[in-house]
Amino acid sequence: MALISIVVPCYNEQEALPFFYKKTLQVAEDIKNKLGDEVEFIFVDDGSKDDTMQVIKQLAAEDARVRYVSFSRNFGKEAAMYAGLKAAKGDYISLMDADLQDPPELLVEMTQTLKLGEYDCVASRRTTRKGEPVIRSFFARMFYRLINRISKTDIVDGARDFRLMTRQMANAVLDMPEYNRFSKGIFGWVGFKTKWLEYINVERVAGETKWSFWKLFLYSLEGIVAFSTAPLALASVFGILMCVVAMGFIIFIIVRTLIWGDPTNGWPSMMCVIILIGGIQLLCIGILGQYMSKIYLETKHRPLYIIKEEK
Ligand code: UDP
Ligand code: MG
Repeated sequence: MALISIVVPCYNEQEALPFFYKKTLQVAEDIKNKLGDEVEFIFVDDGSKDDTMQVIKQLAAEDARVRYVSFSRNFGKEAAMYAGLKAAKGDYISLMDADLQDPPELLVEMTQTLKLGEYDCVASRRTTRKGEPVIRSFFARMFYRLINRISKTDIVDGARDFRLMTRQMANAVLDMPEYNRFSKGIFGWVGFKTKWLEYINVERVAGETKWSFWKLFLYSLEGIVAFSTAPLALASVFGILMCVVAMGFIIFIIVRTLIWGDPTNGWPSMMCVIILIGGIQLLCIGILGQYMSKIYLETKHRPLYIIKEEK
């Protein structure tokens, strides 16, 4: 008999949580009947501003398998997942969203697969981005293309955080206490053998998404900075390119002057060149700044989250 921990990060999920609990409870029954395994719930309240905590406490009062961690403020889903993994006692640990976008019934199959011993992790990826704004899908695709090109870590397009992993893999993830967490990259980085289950995207059951386009955009930058140093080389590449172009120009101007003399003109073209080079320099300094800010935050060694209450 094994214990399966279900870690659920929750931020303002008072509407979705009752649905989630009800549905997942049925799955827990299924697992118990079919495989004989027990389930525990770990709800991580990520500083919700609504009544999420009351809902969780109510569940915990009624069901001894429900435990919780509550943060002092909103620390973000990444921190919530870390805290949940840390609190989990199971032999197999699952990460799941509270909005039922991750179908809990997959857990049965996931557990069966892991128990066979061939895989260390069963993860899910959605095959379509239907129901998502077109521009968002476009940028998401571009992001995955880019990051897989410039990073050695494999980051799977459409991968969700929903997965079941062995204790060994969870411990490996816990051994990465970095402040700037990008889970999709972390799961790839730790390695282990992962089986991918594909499923069609579903809408969230209640409440609304916490991700605006802008938040997603910043998150993608974080992913790039966390798992690739390629942008840092950009300055050198531009620099070399500019040198070559400038050399060509110098030769061209010398030859032209020798043949036709030196009529002074070309003010607009000079402005263009100055602005272009200035722009490239600012871009490169900006990239340096991105990495520097991450280094700055890492060196502070601040905790990933602060716990206010737990059970
Ligand atoms: N979440 C969280 N902290 C946050 C934002 C989100 O713990 O700051 C949780 C949220 O409660 C949900 C999961 O992360 O369980 C996924 O969030 P959401 O459904 O808003 O994201 P989406 O599915 O739209 O990508
Ligand atoms: Mg969701």
